Amino acid sequence: MSQHASAATAEAVVTVPVHGARNVKRVAHEMTISDRLYLFETVRGLGVTFRHAFDTLGRLVLRRKVETVSYPDVRRVYPERFRAMHRLLKRDDGTPRCVACFMCSTACPAQCIRIVAMERAGSTEKMPAQFEIDELRCVDCGLCVEACPCDAIRMDTGIHPAPATERAPTLFNRDQLLAFSGRSDGMLPRSARTAERRSTAHP
Ligand code: SF4
Ligand code: SF4
Repeated sequence: MSQHASAATAEAVVTVPVHGARNVKRVAHEMTISDRLYLFETVRGLGVTFRHAFDTLGRLVLRRKVETVSYPDVRRVYPERFRAMHRLLKRDDGTPRCVACFMCSTACPAQCIRIVAMERAGSTEKMPAQFEIDELRCVDCGLCVEACPCDAIRMDTGIHPAPATERAPTLFNRDQLLAFSGRSDGMLPRSARTAERRSTAHP
């Protein structure tokens, strides 16, 4: 690893080995003493807090509407594209639509998808013998859904993962993921929805 610091810009170019094969140059900001004290950032953060506090107080005094939700007794209706917990879809014969291609686990930046493949009976295709998602590690980026060539995984359950103090309840296995139903059930498949949106946008 090599490092070149520039006093004028207080920035350093750091060459980082990636998988031991090629190097990536990243520009890192070198922290000064005032940066390390976090004084400015603390004052700025407090400014945001007080701005919201006084805004709410002002609304209460002027008897204007204050937007609050008594969660979990009252829940907002999430937009259609809200990324909720994952589910796996089934074929008509009840088997997973997933062909265990590992595209989702490869695309996952949090590496929280674990798949073990098996042969599908009477077919040359594969299917997952095990398919596990760690919802605690998931960053809800949706890349797994985008990567899937079979529309076999979606994040349309509308469910938040429940808070947990242990790892085990945040791990969801294949059968649990297959048992979830989605809010988009009964809607057109994603490809058809996309085609429909495009035709509406460009008639
Ligand atoms: S949403 Fe993102 S982080 Fe979560 S499992 Fe999918 S790819 Fe991984
Ligand atoms: S869910 Fe989709 S991307 Fe992931 S392994 Fe199955 S078929 Fe491949």
